[in-house]
Amino acid sequence: MNAVYPFQRSPRCTATSKRTRQPCMAPAVNGWTVCRFHGARGGAPNGKRNGMYRNGLHTDEAVALRREISDLQRQSRALLRQLAS
Ligand SMILES: [Zn+2]
Repeated sequence: MNAVYPFQRSPRCTATSKRTRQPCMAPAVNGWTVCRFHGARGGAPNGKRNGMYRNGLHTDEAVALRREISDLQRQSRALLRQLAS
């Protein structure tokens, strides 16, 4: 009997073993490309769920917004410099 069980067809971990240089082959965690041994579900929670959350000034969203604004500032200054010369 060579039954193929559904779990055998599940997506595999994309990590490579640093010892054997072979692919990991363990099943990947749902919603991740890697298995539980290779970093799936790791890291601290984002936003208010994070223990270091204070006032939202440093959330990924707020930082991205500030980056965008300063990029726009940079662009407009460059444009003004171009128009002045
Ligand atoms: Zn793995």
